[in-house]
Amino acid sequence: MTAIVPVRRAMREHDNTALVEASRNHEEVVPVHIVDESFFSEHTLGYPRVRFWSESLKKLKKGMGDGKDLVVRRGEPLEELQRLVDEVEADKLYYNREYTPYAKKRDSRIEESLDISVESFKDSVMFEKKEILTNSGTPYKVYTYYKKKWFKNTKRKPQEVEDYKTPELESVEIPGPEEMGFEMPDEMEWVWDASRDAGLERMEEFKDLILDYDRDRDYAWKDATSRLSPHLKFGTVSPREVFWEAERVKARNQDSDISGIETWQEELAWRDYYFQILWNYPHEVEEPFMDKYRGNEPDWDSRDQTPEKWNAWVEGKTGYPFVDAGMRQLKETGWMHNRLRMVVTNFSCKDLWLEWRDVHEYFSKMFVDAEISAMVGGIQWSYSIGTDAQPYFRVFNPTSQAEDYDPDGNYIRKWVPELEDVPDKYIHEPWKMPEEVQRNCGVEIGKDYPDRIVNYDEERKRSVERFEKIEN
Ligand SMILES: Cc1cc2nc3c(=O)[nH]c(=O)nc-3n(C[C@H](O)[C@H](O)[C@H](O)COP(=O)(O)OP(=O)(O)OC[C@H]3O[C@@H](n4cnc5c(N)ncnc54)[C@H](O)[C@@H]3O)c2cc1C
Repeated sequence: MTAIVPVRRAMREHDNTALVEASRNHEEVVPVHIVDESFFSEHTLGYPRVRFWSESLKKLKKGMGDGKDLVVRRGEPLEELQRLVDEVEADKLYYNREYTPYAKKRDSRIEESLDISVESFKDSVMFEKKEILTNSGTPYKVYTYYKKKWFKNTKRKPQEVEDYKTPELESVEIPGPEEMGFEMPDEMEWVWDASRDAGLERMEEFKDLILDYDRDRDYAWKDATSRLSPHLKFGTVSPREVFWEAERVKARNQDSDISGIETWQEELAWRDYYFQILWNYPHEVEEPFMDKYRGNEPDWDSRDQTPEKWNAWVEGKTGYPFVDAGMRQLKETGWMHNRLRMVVTNFSCKDLWLEWRDVHEYFSKMFVDAEISAMVGGIQWSYSIGTDAQPYFRVFNPTSQAEDYDPDGNYIRKWVPELEDVPDKYIHEPWKMPEEVQRNCGVEIGKDYPDRIVNYDEERKRSVERFEKIEN
């Protein structure tokens, strides 16, 4: 009796629900990863994500114990699975459910067409689909109420995989990003270790920071958040593992203030919240989540309509140092701090009026942790068109955001090094520097660092007016 387990985004053996179930019921199990080339050509992907994918797969394969293997094939998923079923005379396929439109389509074809029994499992989230509903039985559209039930509901513990054997089978090399057509961007430095060990180590480190998470998480220059997002995206660690690790810290600190731990666990609830939104309201990928803006959107400017604004934003050269620091952190590392993700998308919307779909495409290329659910959720939140979104009249002031969350300019100085010697007084508003100060600190505004490309006060008013045209 042989089972097949497609490994897609749970790049681990431990607590890989489909693999655990297969190993409980079969002595022979074939974990298989199918490289679907059409996925690479039809979706917007980028180097950081593809490299993390490739390296996490390689590390998974290398780390498998004696007699086990991760088989890798290239082709169309259904065809390759059917071929494998015939090859090993498999009698069952176990897979972990996923929630994106692409995965939904792929998996329903597998369910319908494969000529063996197929069973699927919840794995990459704590709660999925319609597990958490309002009292009237509809999916939540407001996070706060969703969160209450999320915390109350019983959560499963991580599970051990049983011993199994993999028959010897043909397997292709795992392609690297270059082979799939992705070159490392010039300014990027690869700072990620895509192994499960690295994910677990980071969780260990983060356990020393988690009690202060609620106090420190918005301070972009601090090492105060888990940075586990790519590991959770690719499943080198499972959400259950990290949730229960946090519970253990709670248990050890019963006499302390544990609000930091709970605030962090709330982020895992946000993660699930956006996954259930994507599953229940998939239109949000193409259109605004909010009904009133569907087919009736503000008239955003595409990047081709306003290339100067677009390029300045992407390059981190808007003249607003906090915004620029965020965009440069992204370019250089493939990751951006959450506070900055909010600041730069508020800015792209309400100060630059850039089309959110272009922003989505750019982030999809650049983020190592790119996840449609959280990304569309986050962008549409900032653009005031999403689920539980920021009201349209709330416009982040990029200067006061910087003063609040990077008061001494540490984050700015790290990512915008040309501003390193700018005095504290001007670090958030360098365009106000008198010429003499510019000379003294070696930064000529407009030459060494750009003058601000828009005036925040004017743009804020314009943006509110543009939204009001639709609102009224
Ligand atoms: C415009 C925008 C785009 C975003 N795009 C993505 C994305 O593509 N992929 C992604 O994983 N997150 C995205 N987020 C959410 C959040 O910014 C990142 O999850 C977080 O910055 C990752 O850092 P961390 O691992 O240190 O998070 P921590 O603060 O340590 O949080 C722990 C985990 O919870 C999850 N999480 C945290 N915040 C959120 C959130 N707001 N929504 C959903 N899940 C969350 C992540 O898996 C994260 O690793 C986006 C947010 C915004 C505003």
